[in-house]
Amino acid sequence: MDNNLTAIAARLGLPDFLPGWVWLVGAGPGDPGLITALGLHAVASADFILYDSLVDETLLGLAKPGAGRIFVGKRAGVRSCNQEDLSQLLADLAGQGHRVLRLKGGDPFVFGRGGEEARELARRNIPFRIVPGITAGIGGLAYAGIPVTHRDTNASVTFLTGHGADGQLPPHDWRALAKASPTLVLYMAHKHAAAIAAQLMAAGRDSHEPVAIIANAARSEQTVIVTDLAGLGRAAEQCPVLSIIVIGQNVKLRGELDWLVKSAAV
Ligand code: SAH
Repeated sequence: MDNNLTAIAARLGLPDFLPGWVWLVGAGPGDPGLITALGLHAVASADFILYDSLVDETLLGLAKPGAGRIFVGKRAGVRSCNQEDLSQLLADLAGQGHRVLRLKGGDPFVFGRGGEEARELARRNIPFRIVPGITAGIGGLAYAGIPVTHRDTNASVTFLTGHGADGQLPPHDWRALAKASPTLVLYMAHKHAAAIAAQLMAAGRDSHEPVAIIANAARSEQTVIVTDLAGLGRAAEQCPVLSIIVIGQNVKLRGELDWLVKSAAV
């Protein structure tokens, strides 16, 4: 590991990445600077890094010389490795005494199958550590100047997926959500955006309620479209697929808080 990082890890009292362990680490939503200190320590200490397509590849450049880097994500919609093979690979590498880093976009336990991978490790008695990351549904909003909660607009927030395991819109209780959740943050909702808006309006949400679509959040190509519930379906058609959809009055705060554009202009 790089000397500076070793010194920082010691100062922070970070745990050693022991041989034979698997660390499941969240890399954050895009900007490599958003990985945690513990995550960075893991990248610099690992013998093998298994990463997916949401991980910024510049982070891999911080791996120690000779560390193995294995892509296990999806490219052009095709999965390079199924979940079972991946669990086997993690277990095999750890069993051989390697330090194995499973690096995932955002937070490993937020819509990222981290729970499934950790359960497989537990089942096989492989020691593991979970290192949380900044999830796109929080960090992406921060990079768009939208507070995920704000006293004047929403005292609660709901995170939900727009894409079930079967590819359909999951059977959420839209009536309950429309009534109880002032702000909805949707992952994987691009394809079913129009249907989501229709469900919420049918359940009583105002068609003029503000909505933001944050695409490629916290990446150099980030784009944000602000629309309303009635315009959501059409706006999503013009957006890249990798996006977070935010529905709620807190979206309006972006008008004052869009710091990213301002910082780029300075
Ligand atoms: N574990 C990840 C989520 C994985 S599910 C996390 O905590 O962020 C994949 C979905 O996350 C994408 O379809 C998209 O809705 C969202 N997502 C992840 N990274 C994103 C980014 N940089 N910009 C916008 N959406 C993102």
